[in-house]
Amino acid sequence: MMIVMKETATENEVQAVVDKIEEAGALAHRIQGARVSVIGAIGDVEQDASVESLGLEGQPGVDRVMPILKPYKLASLQMTHGRHSVLEIAGRKVGGENFALIAGPCTVESRDQTMQTARAVSEGGATMLRGGAYKPRTSPYAFQGLGQEGLRLLAEAKAETGLPVVTELMDIADLDAVLEVADVVQIGARNMQNYALLAEIGRSGRPALLKRGLSSTLDELLMAAEYILKEGNTDVMLCERGIRTFETAYRFTLDLMAVPVLKQLTHLPVIVDPSHAAGRRDLVTPLSLAAAAIGADGVIVEVHPNPDAAVCDGPQQLRTADFAAYAHTIEQAAALAGKALNPNEPALA
Ligand code: PEP
Ligand code: MN
Repeated sequence: MMIVMKETATENEVQAVVDKIEEAGALAHRIQGARVSVIGAIGDVEQDASVESLGLEGQPGVDRVMPILKPYKLASLQMTHGRHSVLEIAGRKVGGENFALIAGPCTVESRDQTMQTARAVSEGGATMLRGGAYKPRTSPYAFQGLGQEGLRLLAEAKAETGLPVVTELMDIADLDAVLEVADVVQIGARNMQNYALLAEIGRSGRPALLKRGLSSTLDELLMAAEYILKEGNTDVMLCERGIRTFETAYRFTLDLMAVPVLKQLTHLPVIVDPSHAAGRRDLVTPLSLAAAAIGADGVIVEVHPNPDAAVCDGPQQLRTADFAAYAHTIEQAAALAGKALNPNEPALA
């Protein structure tokens, strides 16, 4: 259920509603809008029934009580009254008029490769640095990431460039180490439905970038996000990274329709990963342009100083030398959708 308070509701009136919901055994999630407070009463079917029987409509300060129509509650656009969320990550905004350009290597390979890439993307206009220290590889015999050493190199790159770091967590055992450096914890496509991991990220409170599973529906993606939100972590970004279809001409099919449709279903920002969808460098710019123009809140792209020598995903990584030109082009497409890399500063030259 969703309880919408009156504009004139006092703090005590809001708190009284929260207390009643909690007494009925449901969770009360309070969302402060620009004008009104909304309280989501989240519970199982039985708890929903007990919340319904509380007669909250008559309670002082309550405007109306409505059912939440979707199976995901906290992720639903209804929960925020149709307002899309703007997250604040290490001083940078994601969502609204902000276009996030998250760039960096597929994986941290060496100090040189990491620092060169971090400098190039920072100078080129990236707003965050990506890079994996723990890699989900299809083959157990393939490079699995540098682990803690990789995290240390990311910390060094962050210290020098000031860019917030996005890095993947695969195993709860590595949570503390990852939290030492990650401004955003990435949950990879293969872990989208690892519910224990999602709940742990939720409890950590650290912003999360949740990638859509290879064969997951948007409803499944939103239910996965709900696992993080339910623990009180409101900073979740969704990421479309290509899905499995019958087409074999490219690695995955980038489902760009997911962007406007997710915008209708959820208040969470939506990021697009053209690199993993395509698996090919030549498609990264056109897919990024399309993602920006269709209203994505950002892209996450792979960049390497020498992709031919990359230990993983070489064929799809942009060259550091080409990154500034790429960023400039993408910013122009983002402008079509009313977004900018740094809305309060001039566009990239
Ligand atoms: C990645 O971003 O490094 C990655 C492995 O992506 P995905 O989980 O989407 O395959
Ligand atoms: Mn990769």
